[in-house]
Amino acid sequence: MLIVMRAEATAGEVSEVCAAIARRGFEARPIPGGLRTAIGVVGNQGALDRGLFEGLPGVLECIPVSAPYKLVSRELHPASTVITLPNGARIGGADVCVMGGPCAVESEDQIHEVAAYVAAAGGTVLRGGAYKPRTSPYSFQGHGVPGLRMMRAAADAHGLAMVTEAVDQESADHVAEYADIIQMGARNMQNFSLLRHVGQLRKPVIVKRGLSATVQEWLLAAEYVMNGGNDQVILCERGIRSFDPATRNVLDLAAMALARGLSHLPVIADPSHGTGVRDMVGPMARAAVAAGADGVIVETHPRPAEALSDGHQALVPAQFATMVRELEQIAAVLGRRVSRAEGIVVAAAR
Ligand code: PEP
Ligand code: MN
Repeated sequence: MLIVMRAEATAGEVSEVCAAIARRGFEARPIPGGLRTAIGVVGNQGALDRGLFEGLPGVLECIPVSAPYKLVSRELHPASTVITLPNGARIGGADVCVMGGPCAVESEDQIHEVAAYVAAAGGTVLRGGAYKPRTSPYSFQGHGVPGLRMMRAAADAHGLAMVTEAVDQESADHVAEYADIIQMGARNMQNFSLLRHVGQLRKPVIVKRGLSATVQEWLLAAEYVMNGGNDQVILCERGIRSFDPATRNVLDLAAMALARGLSHLPVIADPSHGTGVRDMVGPMARAAVAAGADGVIVETHPRPAEALSDGHQALVPAQFATMVRELEQIAAVLGRRVSRAEGIVVAAAR
């Protein structure tokens, strides 16, 4: 960190800041300039809290030199992290992972039907909510543990891995028992006790970007999970709030590309919540892969008009299959491939 002193700061104030740095166990390196003095802080491991020095007399500002998220950052971990799931599917590196499924697990028949066509189309991970964070308490809230059981059976029957959301510590423990990936929803991105809790669990975690979260806040949310000892973290850009209701959110692909540069973690995109409009999901999934996404997570339903949630943004089965074929072509242009799982036979005619 660099501490910039005010132009009128006295020599005594400079010495006092140097002493405060030393008291914290770091070394102070004053850099006198023509107008003002700056003081470099060296010897710290990882990010420093700028609040420690900002209020001291004579200090103008504290400028962090290294990123505040040290486990998530590429600075200390230049190689990209690749996550391998139990069915052999991979997220990151050369592999682009396609995750598909309904917004919510509605019934045993529904989730089996979806799992069958997601696998046949070339998807490798089944998504679907058993715990649904809904804006209204009167909306369908999910089937809970019975929903997890139905989903596990459907995923296993078709060779798929399974991702589903946890909304609190109790549901996180159930999700960790059944699923291969635990999803932290956008609304829980800054639920720090929940992030710490999933950091203790030994399953990969998707950290979705909050509705109005900055990239730094998003990466710090992932840092919470990694700080608990869980290094299997996947970042997910799912759209941010804007002024325009024409789309549900704005899928911020620039932030996704930025996050891939700042962090070694895989970054995926959710074009379903990112647009909220069925016909825009395919185009934005293609754009995400073209922009370097390590995967997409997409909502699909065999009969969207009957869906209990988010039917308006669910791809119908044929649209899902078309999307996977297109993503395969875009990935190939970039020297990548859509990840395959062991034991899944992708339908010849898709
Ligand atoms: C979901 O994936 O179904 C979901 C609720 O997503 P988000 O947390 O991004 O709104
Ligand atoms: Mn949804």
